[in-house]
Amino acid sequence: MRLASLLLILAASSCASSVGPRSIPERPSCGEVIAISGHGRVLSQDFSQLPAAVNAALVIDRYYALAAQRLGHTRDEDVEIWLVPAWPVLASTFENCIVFDPSPEAMPHADWILTHEFVHWHASGTVVQRNLPPTIVEGLCDRIAADLTQSLREHLRDTQSRLLAEARERGELSHVISHLDLDSRDLAWLSHSETHDMHALAIALVDRIGVDALLEAAEQGPVSSETILDMADVSADGEGL
Ligand SMILES: [Zn+2]
Repeated sequence: MRLASLLLILAASSCASSVGPRSIPERPSCGEVIAISGHGRVLSQDFSQLPAAVNAALVIDRYYALAAQRLGHTRDEDVEIWLVPAWPVLASTFENCIVFDPSPEAMPHADWILTHEFVHWHASGTVVQRNLPPTIVEGLCDRIAADLTQSLREHLRDTQSRLLAEARERGELSHVISHLDLDSRDLAWLSHSETHDMHALAIALVDRIGVDALLEAAEQGPVSSETILDMADVSADGEGL
């Protein structure tokens, strides 16, 4: 699979779905803990997933604390990653765990995917999650994961520019921008192509505003999508993007 098309899947696949239509799977029970990190553990039903579990534990060791540091919020409890093959998306963050599908498409980018989820994990219950539009939180997770892991950064930029240019060409850019208002439940019902466009828009806006300015705004109180567009100097029909 070409990396560009993989990125589209990645962009559409990682999301905070604790309140979305995806319900949490059963906790892996027979495998128990199959890999341990300083900040958490990785569970699986199947010991053949040991290499994926060890890799996930290494990603925890390497990026879990960094994600918290960049976000400015740290969750006290250790993280638990459940390896769930054929999970409908590559990863999801729930209240008590992160579910990760150790598929051949995902494994080469496990650091990026899991770091994106670590940002969700640490943001859970904080002003970042409460005060920023869910779409912007997705862009924030994408940007922090790309910066910390130094992974997919160019592809993220290229893919984002292409998707937004295509949406503009189709005359749908203002429609995509109007989705900024959606809550996380509604976001989970978007089609794949709409989700791709939303992620592209969110990353573009986060990049224009800057991670620090966005986090600072979240500390001050609720940030509306209109304020996000103002901060990014982008109009409702996409002028400025
Ligand atoms: Zn996400």
